[in-house]
Order: sequence, then C-alpha cells, then structure tokens
Amino acid sequence: MTKRIFQSICLTALGVFFASVLLFMGVLYEHYTGVQRRQLRMQTELAAQGTANEGLGYFDGLDVQYYRITWIDKDGSVLYDSQSNFDGMENHLEREEVKEAVSEGLGESSRYSVTLMERAIYCAKSLPDGTILRLSMAQNTVLTLLLGMLQPICIIFGAALGLSLLMAYRLSKSIVKPLNKLDLDEPMKHEGYDELSPFFERIAIQQRKIRRQENELRQRKSEFEAVTMGMEEGIVLFNKKQIILAVNPAAARILHTDQTCVGKYLLSVNRSIKLQELLGRAGEGRYAEMKIDDGGRSYQFSASPVLSEGLVSGIVFLILDITEKEKSEQMRREFTANVSHELRTPLHTISGYAELLANDLVKPEDIKGFSGRIYEEARRMIRLVEDIMQLSRLDEGAADMNMETVDLFGIAQEVQDRLSKEAREAGVQFVLEGGPVSVYGIPQLLREMIYNLCDNGIKYNRRGGKVSIIVNQDESGAELIVSDNGIGIPKEHQERVFERFYRVDKSHSKEIGGTGLGLSIVKHAAKLNHAAIELHSIPNEGTTVSIYFPKTDKEAAGKEH
Ligand code: ADP
Repeated sequence: MTKRIFQSICLTALGVFFASVLLFMGVLYEHYTGVQRRQLRMQTELAAQGTANEGLGYFDGLDVQYYRITWIDKDGSVLYDSQSNFDGMENHLEREEVKEAVSEGLGESSRYSVTLMERAIYCAKSLPDGTILRLSMAQNTVLTLLLGMLQPICIIFGAALGLSLLMAYRLSKSIVKPLNKLDLDEPMKHEGYDELSPFFERIAIQQRKIRRQENELRQRKSEFEAVTMGMEEGIVLFNKKQIILAVNPAAARILHTDQTCVGKYLLSVNRSIKLQELLGRAGEGRYAEMKIDDGGRSYQFSASPVLSEGLVSGIVFLILDITEKEKSEQMRREFTANVSHELRTPLHTISGYAELLANDLVKPEDIKGFSGRIYEEARRMIRLVEDIMQLSRLDEGAADMNMETVDLFGIAQEVQDRLSKEAREAGVQFVLEGGPVSVYGIPQLLREMIYNLCDNGIKYNRRGGKVSIIVNQDESGAELIVSDNGIGIPKEHQERVFERFYRVDKSHSKEIGGTGLGLSIVKHAAKLNHAAIELHSIPNEGTTVSIYFPKTDKEAAGKEH
C-alpha cells in the first residue's frame, strides 16, 4: 500500500510539473510571438517609408542583423534581398504575405523551415509605386524555445522530482502509519481517521461475532472432549476431505497414534488397507462396518457418513473393542457343545440299560447291577446339571445370594463333616487346622468352594494319602489352604484346570464322578467373594490351593454386590 501511495503521489507531482511546463511554454510562446509580430510590422512600416522615399539607395550601408529585407517588384521579381543574391530568385508574387500586401496593402504570414526547428514570420507592405517591401525574421519554435530553456527546466525538474519523492515518502508513511498501528482486536481505539469510523465499527461488530462463535465452538469442543474422553469406545471424526478433525483417547490408542494425528490423513497415521476401504465406502455416503484384528484384540469399526444436503460433509468412525464379547461368545459355544457332549454319554448308557431291562434281556441276577449303573449315570447327570446351574448362577453374578460376615473355620468344619465318609472310604486322612476366622462373603459359595477343593483333594489322591484344610488370618486378611499329597497336576495343565470341562485325565475324572466344572465354580465363586486363588502342584507329590480373602471391608464389598 505504501508503494502504491508513493507511486501515485510521485506520478501526480510529475504530471502537474509537465502540465505546468507545457502551459508555461505555450503562454510564453504566444506572448513572444505577438511581440515579434508587432515589432516586425513596425520595422516593415519604417523600412517601407524609407524605401518609398529613397529607393534602392535606402539599402546602401544598411546593416540588418536580425531581419531579412526583400524588395519585390510589381511583377514579383526581386529587386533587392539583404541576405542572398537576388538575381534569379524565383517569383515572389505567389507568397501569401505578398499576395495579401498586393490586395490589402499589408500582408503577414509565417512558415516553418523544413526541420521545424525554425519558423520565419513575414510582413509585406506595398509601396505607392506598386512594389512591395517584405521583412522577415526568424522566430524560435516551441521546440527551440524548450531546448533553449532545457537547463533551467532540468534543474526545476530535478528539484521537483526530489521534493515530490520526499513528500510522497513522508506522506505515504504518515497515511499508512496509523493503519499499521491499528489494533484489530480493539478497532474502535484508532487514532486519526474519522472517515474510516464506519469501517472500524463494522470490524468491531465482526470481531464480537467471531469471538462469540469462537467461545461457542470452544465450549462445544470441550463438551465433546469431555464426553468422548472417558469413553471406552473409540471415536474419530473426519471432514469431507477425509482429514482427521478429532480423535478420542480410546481411538488414538487403538490406531497406535496420539492427538498429533489431528489435521492429517488416516493413511499417514495407520496404513491398514481395510481402514482405507471403510473410509472410502463412508466417503461414498454409505454406512459400513468391519471387524479388524490387531495385537491379539478384535475391534469392530463402524463408519457413518455425515450427510448435508445429500453430500458427504464428514465421516464418523466408532470403534468397539469386541475382544471380550467374542471370547465369551466363543466360550458359550464351547460350553454348549461340551454340555451336550457330557450329557450324551450318561443318557446313552441309561437308555441302553433301560432298553435291555424293558425287553427282559437281562438275567435276573444282573438286574441289580444294571439298575445300579442306571442310578450311577443318573446321579452323574444330576451332579452335572447342578454344577451347570450353579455356574450359570455365578455367571449372572449370584444376584440371589447375599454377602454376610461368616466364620470360615465353621464352614470348613461343615465340609469336613460332609466329606469325612468319602475320605474314610478313599483311605485318605482328612484334617482341619486353625481357628475361627471372620470373612465377609457369600456363605453358600464359600461352602461350595471348600467342598470342591477338598473333594478334589480326596478324589485325586491315593490310599493312605492326606488332605488338610488350614484356616488362618493376619493383618492383611484371611487365608484358607487346602493341600493334599495326591497325584498332583502336571505343570502344563495347571493354568487350564480352572477352565470349564477341563480335565487332566478325562477318563479317570469320569470314573471317579468328576464333572470337570468343580474348579471353574471355585474360580468364579472366589471372584464373587473378592478372593484370590493360587495353585501349587507337583505331580506325584501333591497339590495346594490357597484362597486369600482381603481384610473385611463390608461397605466396599457390600456396594459391589
Ligand atoms: P473334576 O470334576 O473333574 O474334578 P475340576 O474342575 O474340579 O473337575 O478339576 C479339573 C481337573 O483338575 C480334574 O479333572 C483333575 O484332573 C485336576 N485336579 C483338580 N484338583 C486336583 C487335585 N487336588 N489333585 C490333582 N488333580 C486335580
């Protein structure tokens, strides 16, 4: 802007200068020409008078420097010329001033030389004898006048140029300075330009509007962030050019990026072709979803286009971690398959024996044995169904059971009583050590846990073996340990024995009436009682299962349950 102001001022100054020079030259030239003409006419009158009186003698000794005198005869031939040899000069009657002098007594004219650098003015007067006397003098043209004045004009031009440059510089600076100093945040606090007040007022209004909109946007952004920040689901927003506008922490974690991805294309953040495909489909205005596995986890990506007037103005990605869901679905499928499998065997056995009995194909002495097998299989099915029902109750969080403060030692005593017969029959010594210990838990589940652990200790033992229950407590909480010196569990199975229907030796387990669900129930029940389990086992040496109950905190436990 400074440059333009500067240029305009300079150009105007120079324009004015040249116009003034032209005007001045024109006026000067006109004046000068008029003076010369009058002078020439006067001289012509005088010379005509002299020539009329004295004839050719008038020109003797006449020294004329600035004039040319020509005396022309009536027939146009030249009688005298002060500057050239007049013999043989062309006829002068046709000259404009001569013609005028012949007709009107006095004639004037002017003519340019070939170079246009010089102009001659002529004045002719007819004498009483019919001859004509003509005087002419050279007159400068405007061009020569200009050239003659070139030096002063150049000096003035230089001075004018310098002055106008200086003025232009200072003026343009002084015009722009207040504008440069203008604080656009406070446009009404300007100095100097009242004419621009409406403009500044408009800026101030716009500023207020922008600030208001900024605040609204900021508020909406923080609301959006607050909502999406703690979400488990990942959310990514894209604009219509598919550039990331926002990403919440969950999505950033899943896409292995951080907040720096905002403003970038998805491809520069994550190179997954599937994600590009998904984005592409949403970009075409279609809802799309896809399951993507990454780092051992499964995610469901849903891409929804945001449409405005039928055009895609943005895209929203919703990312759900479906690992647990998939796992539990898988477990449920396996569980169903296992249950059917587990039930099929006893049912086949029962139906086979029952068929034989119904068709009288069993010898009377075998009937007792057959009925006994049917009874055994039916018992096994009942145990299995009971365990399954118990597990599904635990899966639902044991909502029908309440927590209360119970004596762990008392429960252990009850279990010992219930299993003493089995222990005796198996030739296993069954002991209980410790004293009363209070824990806050669900009594039915605690009973079942201890029962299952002791039952396993007896079942997977040898004659002459031992199972002991130890109940004790310290400042951090209570502890219940069930240990045996039975067959033990090989290392590679130790992690999996808590899974449903997992058995180390399937046929042995079935033989001794195991369902494969005992330890799953223990694990689940421990979880609902906020207890931790630890298993130590050495094949052929024995197994120890420890259950830790953290310090009784009725309120905390009560709230959760
Ligand atoms: P089951 O009804 O078959 O006993 P569990 O879930 O109670 O089912 O146990 C799973 C498997 O873990 C058993 O089949 C057995 O192989 C093994 N197991 C459990 N407890 C013991 C133990 N105390 N000693 C040796 N093996 C055990």
